[in-house]
Amino acid sequence: MTDGRITALRPGGEPGDAVVLDGLVLPGLANAHSHAFHRALRGETQVGGGTFWTWRETMYRAAAALDPDTYLDLATAVYAEMALAGITCVGEFHYLHHAPGGTPYADPNVMGEALVEAAARAGIRITLLDTCYLSSGFGAPPDATQARFSDGTAHAWAERAEALAVALDKHPHAVAGAAVHSVRAVPADQLAVVAAWAEGRLAPIHAHLSEQPAENEGCVEAYGVTPTRLLADHGVLGPRATAVHATHLTGDDVALLGGSATTVCMCPTTERDLADGIGPAKDLQLAGSRLTLGSDSHAVIDLFEEARGMELDERLRTRRRGHWSADELLRAATGDGHASLGWPEAGRIEVGAVADLVTVSLDSVRTATPRPRPETAVFAATAADVRDVVVGGRLVVRHGAHRLVPDVPAALRRAVGRLWAS
Ligand SMILES: [Zn+2]
Repeated sequence: MTDGRITALRPGGEPGDAVVLDGLVLPGLANAHSHAFHRALRGETQVGGGTFWTWRETMYRAAAALDPDTYLDLATAVYAEMALAGITCVGEFHYLHHAPGGTPYADPNVMGEALVEAAARAGIRITLLDTCYLSSGFGAPPDATQARFSDGTAHAWAERAEALAVALDKHPHAVAGAAVHSVRAVPADQLAVVAAWAEGRLAPIHAHLSEQPAENEGCVEAYGVTPTRLLADHGVLGPRATAVHATHLTGDDVALLGGSATTVCMCPTTERDLADGIGPAKDLQLAGSRLTLGSDSHAVIDLFEEARGMELDERLRTRRRGHWSADELLRAATGDGHASLGWPEAGRIEVGAVADLVTVSLDSVRTATPRPRPETAVFAATAADVRDVVVGGRLVVRHGAHRLVPDVPAALRRAVGRLWAS
């Protein structure tokens, strides 16, 4: 290994004084869709029932309480939790840009920079998907909380996103990308500006898509087309694009996403927590979409649970087994996830790739078996079975302990407590 990259792979070599990684060694996991501050909702929004829309009210209360300092604290703890779960790269879908009321901070990118610094402190890579968010529903201005998300116009968004991207060029652990929050939050006549910015930088572009039927109904009412068709018509879809959720689609939507080679990010633990429904992941893959996985609202942070969730949801939907092999599910959690976040050099164990590695214990109560195999990791391991995590050749987690953030549970308790107390 040189400069954090793999230079040779030799079976059966003598380890000498090298660090030996025990267990099943996988490429680092990519969490392709995250909103770091949603971690503060864990447990809170599982009390009682409610809907996606009542969940969103609680989420907005957390958003309203954050400032650059508390966000740095919270995101550092959340990304440290991710590192302990074997996640070496996070795609942060970031829309909490401005001060309460919508006034820009003196440095208009201070919130995004806090997230990039948090990833550095937790020892992981980050793709900061700077998110354009301009309207509440179709055409209405942002409400009091959403004012913090809005730059007013897509051109103003692009100007701020460009300044952040230039700043991120100095950070080897960070990549700048773009996001369209949703067709609810970005009017149709603004979409092409976001797409053009991403095109100009050859950057990843992500969008929430059709998570709720109400979004589809609103879009058809406002524009006469589905959200997928709207994104396609304004140049948002394509090989560098990722549609997140893609739960409620028509057959034409599936063909548009697959035909444009748009990646689809499934977030099964969030989709089940919010009673969203089950997206047509297999149909999308057959149509041409790559699949990735994200923990999104962080109801749990466990990419093994996301991976098997996609397969097991499809089994319940179709009453058939075996839609994806364990290897295919791991590819969604590793190589394809990294590719969708602008890290083609990560997520593979081969010469030239970055040395991002994760070991999964094969002797825990969940994984102990006389014949260990990848299926054990995918169908039985949890994040608690991750033992060692290497990012760019640096040992970030050893024997289940984070080496940069010494007490991650305490850091989470403190940061979440601080948020709800404010
Ligand atoms: Zn999301």
